[in-house]
Amino acid sequence: MSDQQPKPLLPAADPSTWLGVMGGGQLGRMFAQAAQAMGYKVAVLEPSKECPAGQVAEHLVEAGYTDVAGLDALAARCAAVTTEFENVPADSLSRLAQTVFVAPDAHGVSVAQDRIAEKSFFVACAAKSGVMPAPHKVIATLQDVEAISDELLPGILKTVRMGYDGKGQVRVRTRADVRAAWESMGQVSCLLEKMLPLAYEVSVLTARGADGASVVYPIAENVHRDGILFTTTVPGPNVSAECASTAQDAARAIVAELAYVGVLCIEFFVLTDGSLVVNEMAPRPHNSGHYTIDACVTSQFAQQVRAMARLPLGDCRQHSPAVMLNILGDVWFDGDSDKLREPAWDRVLALPGANLHLYGKNDPRRGRKMGHLTFVAPTLHEAQRQFEAACAILGIQL
Ligand code: ATP
Ligand code: MG
Repeated sequence: MSDQQPKPLLPAADPSTWLGVMGGGQLGRMFAQAAQAMGYKVAVLEPSKECPAGQVAEHLVEAGYTDVAGLDALAARCAAVTTEFENVPADSLSRLAQTVFVAPDAHGVSVAQDRIAEKSFFVACAAKSGVMPAPHKVIATLQDVEAISDELLPGILKTVRMGYDGKGQVRVRTRADVRAAWESMGQVSCLLEKMLPLAYEVSVLTARGADGASVVYPIAENVHRDGILFTTTVPGPNVSAECASTAQDAARAIVAELAYVGVLCIEFFVLTDGSLVVNEMAPRPHNSGHYTIDACVTSQFAQQVRAMARLPLGDCRQHSPAVMLNILGDVWFDGDSDKLREPAWDRVLALPGANLHLYGKNDPRRGRKMGHLTFVAPTLHEAQRQFEAACAILGIQL
């Protein structure tokens, strides 16, 4: 093997340098916008034409995520390919990697998309990362249910694959509950996790380059509602300096151990006794990192572009305190009525420090992520005040 580093993929006009993304959702859209701002052209692979990323990319490969002809067309056009959703089939990334640079690679993505592999990885890496996941047990057979130890109850039963936004999860108190929940999930492989006493939740966004250099963003404090991220606040009002440095050190150890290239987000629980537990990781930019677009020198999407293009990673410094509010389809509805109306964006945008990001989705539904708002201000208190004013305008209860 040559010991020469592969060259960075610089933006070029003729022939254009194309970056590819697997998936056409809002993360792909914001990735495309960041890549285009730096002079790249973007191709998206997604089965449906009307998708948030397809609206902005220069080229859409309209194909399924395992469609060989589609994958080959993406690889033929692009100098590097990334993914915007974690359930992208790992085999598809491997196929792309035969001819084009793929970041993150199939290995990192396959660990993150399988809760058993992910938990085992966290346990194996604990000596280096200094953090452990919640006590857990694989539930794949009825015998597994019978063998559950008392310490794991009450707990949460989670499907091993395809869980997101709290979907594929059931809270259980007894073995009978676990059995009923597991049967209701169609007896697929699950993981039972002990229910922990959470004080609050945080996430750490990190990025690692192909040269092994890594960067870590400030720790973010997250509040969920109905299993969906509601707000991200940075700096986190509850986060101590010690908690932040433990989580950031853990994140550095985890990306290095995975030999990962690209942006990775790691979610942690902070327990009522102050200890830190690692929950899960997302092998891509993350909803809790959206605040970086308006509040950091380099956004998480620009960082992904740099990592996959083998350019130097950018400065993670946060220049303004920020509160990010997810905008769900609910705000298009007037109370409990089914009538749709446009939210008063003019009033929201009159608030100092408001930054509106809408994802181009034209059918608002309750619980559907339609966009986000980030409030930046010279002080966190001021950003929180404007966030509260926006919630009042949008009819979001606090
Ligand atoms: P995401 O949208 O982050 O992908 P997910 O559906 O994959 O979510 P988790 O992040 O594992 O699922 O869990 C969703 C939420 O449920 C967590 O943010 C946390 O509030 C709660 N939760 C999960 N596991 C535990 C646990 N072991 N103890 C207490 N609360 C938990
Ligand atoms: Mg989660």
